[in-house]
Parts: sequence; structure tokens; C-alpha cells
Amino acid sequence: MKGLIFDIQRSSFVDGDGVRTTVFFKGCNLKCKWCHNPEGIKNYKEMLFYKSKCTGCGLCRKICQNNEKECTLCGNCALICPNDAKEICGKEYNTGELFEIIQRDKALYSQTGGGVTFSGGECMLQIDFLRSILEKCYENGINTAVDTAGNVPFSYFEKILPYVNTFLYDVKCIDEELHKEHTGVSNTLILENLERLIKAGKRIVVRTPVIGGFNDTDKELFRIFNYLKGKGIEKAELLPYHNMGAHKYEGLSLPFKEFAAPSKDFMEKYKKVFSTV
Ligand code: SF4
Ligand code: SF4
Repeated sequence: MKGLIFDIQRSSFVDGDGVRTTVFFKGCNLKCKWCHNPEGIKNYKEMLFYKSKCTGCGLCRKICQNNEKECTLCGNCALICPNDAKEICGKEYNTGELFEIIQRDKALYSQTGGGVTFSGGECMLQIDFLRSILEKCYENGINTAVDTAGNVPFSYFEKILPYVNTFLYDVKCIDEELHKEHTGVSNTLILENLERLIKAGKRIVVRTPVIGGFNDTDKELFRIFNYLKGKGIEKAELLPYHNMGAHKYEGLSLPFKEFAAPSKDFMEKYKKVFSTV
């Protein structure tokens, strides 16, 4: 069995407890307007091309055995480009290959209370592969976390429950229409799944991206806070909007929409509020 992965980041401090390896699965069923990993949306391998880096040297055309007409995504042009103007996004791994990379930092996980985090995209859309790698990590004593937007049938969660230490669960807003407008999907299933996960007794860290013009209002943030308060989740984290993924939109030839980042004071105020859930 193979999984399609678009990035593996070792020594991450932002995707759960301690030092972690974060594995990004390709494919997502939300279309968040502020997405900072747009290369993770499509569930297939693709070529990114950065026009602003290309000098027109022609090396890529010379090396292509298909005259660039029927691209097989072999990656030769990306390898030869002297300016990194081309990039193949997405690589298949089997369970053993991926586990070999994850276990390299096992000592570091033990020292820091860290482990592996499966993210994306939406890692749960490749549920059978996810289950297979989770099981392997869990049985080898590696702490596991699953970072999910939760928009999948609950039966998917049931397949992996025994092998997950922590769920990092996105709650973007409570207002259904607002959710639909900014992510392309309703949040009904997402919130139902969260309630069922809580009932199942899983350790859950809720994460909310704070996006200017979307949910950065007292009304919406308090709706989220009031919804979460007393529910039995481990903690709720707020993540301020950033535009660090902007260049990837050029690579994918997609229009980039900039959102406003919340101020430091605003974030501090709400971090204090959310620390009491
Ligand atoms: S090799 Fe790179 S810089 Fe040269 S033409 Fe191709 S994409 Fe452009
Ligand atoms: S990825 Fe391979 S087939 Fe596609 S354009 Fe580049 S060299 Fe040609």
C-alpha cells in the first residue's frame, strides 16, 4: 500500500507536543480561501512552475524526452533547472519507507515528549494508508498525532482511533454559512465528528486559524469559545494568519488572495480567553 506525500518536515515544534516529524498527505476536500499549503489540495502528483525564477535558458526543454507535450512528471526538468523554477509536488511512499524516515528521530521524540504528526492536505482522505503507518508507529512506541479538518465520515476515525495519541482538530468557525463561504463546505459533519471523538475519550487539541475578514471578530471567536468551553478537550489553540504560502500560488498558477493578519494584542487577548476552555 502506498501513500502520496507532498512534504516531510523533521524537527517541527508547531504540530503538537515536543519535537515532531510532520508528514503532509496530498489531497484535501476543503477549499479554504487562505490556504497556506495549496500544493496539498489536489490528490495527485503535479508540477509547480515559478515563472518569476525562469530565465528562459531552455535546459528543461532539451532534457525532456517527451518534448513537454505529454508530461509524465518524470521530474528531469526540475532536477536540471539551475534556478529551481520547476518542482514536482507529491511522492509515493510505502509504509516501510515512510516509517524508516519517521523513526530516525526516535531518540529526540523520547527526550522532548514529541513524535510524529500526520497532516496535509487532509491526511484522513488516504485512510487505509494512514491507518497502516499509524499502526506501525504506535506499535513501535512513537507518539502519534493526526491533524485533521474532520470533514470525513466518522467510520474513518473509527479505523484509526486505537493508534492515535492526539487529534489536532480544526474548528474554523461555528456559523455554518460563513464556514461554507470560506471553506466550500458545511461544518455540520465536522462538529458532529468532534463531539463523537470527545465521547470516545480521545485527547483533542482544537486549533483555530484566526483570519482577518473571516473569523477575527469578537462575535465569532466568542461563539467558538462558548461552543468549546467545558466540552472536555485538552486545549484550544489560536493560530494567526500568515502569508508564507503566497509564493506557492505562483507555482500552481492560481490567484492569491491576501487576508489581514490579526494584531499581536488581539491574539494575546484571545489566547488568554481560549486558555480557559
Ligand atoms: S531550466 Fe529552469 S530556468 Fe531554464 S527555461 Fe527551464 S524552467 Fe526556465
Ligand atoms: S517532468 Fe519530465 S516529462 Fe514532464 S516536462 Fe519535465 S522532463 Fe518533460
